Amino acid sequence: MEHKYNPKSLIADEFISNDEIEESLRYADENKNNLPLLQTILQKARLEKGLTHREAAVLLACDLPEINEQIFSLAQQIKINYYGNRMVLFAPLYLSNYCVNGCVYCPYHAKNKHIFRKKMTQDEIRDEVIALQDMGHKRLAIELGEDPVNNPIEYVLESLKTIYSIKHKNGAIRRVNVNIAATTVENYRKLKDAGIGTYILFQETYNRQSYETLHPTGPKHDYAWHTEAMDRAMEGGIDDVGIGVLFGLSTYRYEFTGLLMHAEHLEAVHGVGPHTISVPRLRPADDIDTNDFKDCINDDIFAKIVACLRIAVPYTGMIISTRESKKTRERVLKLGISQLSGGSKTSVGGYSHPEREEPNSAQFDVIDNRTLDEVINWLMTMDYIPSFCTACYRAGRTGDRFMELCKAKQIHNCCHPNALLTLQEYLCDYASPETRELGEKLIAKELATLSPQVAATTSAWLEKIRNNTGRDFRF
Ligand code: SAM
Repeated sequence: MEHKYNPKSLIADEFISNDEIEESLRYADENKNNLPLLQTILQKARLEKGLTHREAAVLLACDLPEINEQIFSLAQQIKINYYGNRMVLFAPLYLSNYCVNGCVYCPYHAKNKHIFRKKMTQDEIRDEVIALQDMGHKRLAIELGEDPVNNPIEYVLESLKTIYSIKHKNGAIRRVNVNIAATTVENYRKLKDAGIGTYILFQETYNRQSYETLHPTGPKHDYAWHTEAMDRAMEGGIDDVGIGVLFGLSTYRYEFTGLLMHAEHLEAVHGVGPHTISVPRLRPADDIDTNDFKDCINDDIFAKIVACLRIAVPYTGMIISTRESKKTRERVLKLGISQLSGGSKTSVGGYSHPEREEPNSAQFDVIDNRTLDEVINWLMTMDYIPSFCTACYRAGRTGDRFMELCKAKQIHNCCHPNALLTLQEYLCDYASPETRELGEKLIAKELATLSPQVAATTSAWLEKIRNNTGRDFRF
């Protein structure tokens, strides 16, 4: 059946039109060495307002070293202009690995009979949240397999209530993002009412044919239901959504173009693009061998993808997880990443009971196994400001209100002092002596970059945090 490309359509095959992707990739191949066109695209990109999927596809296809150098340096510049040197930290929290789907790349697939299945009780969730608060985390992403009987929406809602209710010592989880399977408008509304931050759902692959082969059984097999999920989420009132593909499942240039078309679609229909884009790469796991997947990408291509995304959608946050090594994370942070996870466990119950990692209930092997304190310390040695800020969403700056702030490059004015304030909380409550020393110096240096008025208020609040007479200050 013919599907005419239409970014405003609500039909998956029309806003992610296979023909449009194929045509864009052909165009990119034909023009990847077309210097005048590449220069024109770069000139537009330097305005820092983004590129179309087709323009970005040309940059991604280009292998001329002098153009690639310009792409990487522009990505770095855009990153600094929009996000400064802040890096927001979060941790994933796996609530249950029961799953009825048959995803061939995920060890949670229903046919895996030897993986240890676990669904946490509310008491166990409490233990996990206390362990996460004791590390210093303020922002979580909850993860569940899809299982209407074991993991119904009521379980997710009850768990959210539990997580938000726990205040251990000076700790608090102030923002919970949710990564659960595609669901109904009604359920999205319930998640919105429960006070979630971002609703995250990875497309896995935008190639319908690959999608159907990779998801042979279960509700996730339905490509249209999955691809149209973000429209239902927005209809349910969730205005911060996070998209992504699992690189390695299909050809990366196809995925990259599909990802940008999805972003354009959300902007065209709802007036606001995705809040974040995640760039996970396929990892080995319990019964998953990455050698079985011929489309896995190397580190150079990965870095190029991050840089081209940064240029194409300058105002969209970009997330990197502990699926990547310290070295790779170091490389791509500067090319456009704005959020990263630290000290992560991908097993159910792994934070409070590390010994429960065996028998294995993990979703994939983590590469970056450092503690959160090591990650914070490492970020600061590279002059990044680790931030635990959750202010925007709690001040109602979500969806188009956040995007307006971001597009006007104004996030610096509130995000910078907020980052310093939340870093100060971390330093006082959780940091090792070395990390604290490093952090205090960084805060002193960064305070000097704020306007006198903002610096005065920030200093007063920092003092209260140090005296333990207040927490949770924000602009
Ligand atoms: N069950 C939810 C769904 O169906 O969308 C999502 C939660 S799942 C716990 C989070 C993500 O982990 C998936 O969307 C997938 O992209 C990723 N994932 C699954 N298997 C993986 C693997 N072997 N390596 C890396 N990431 C994987």
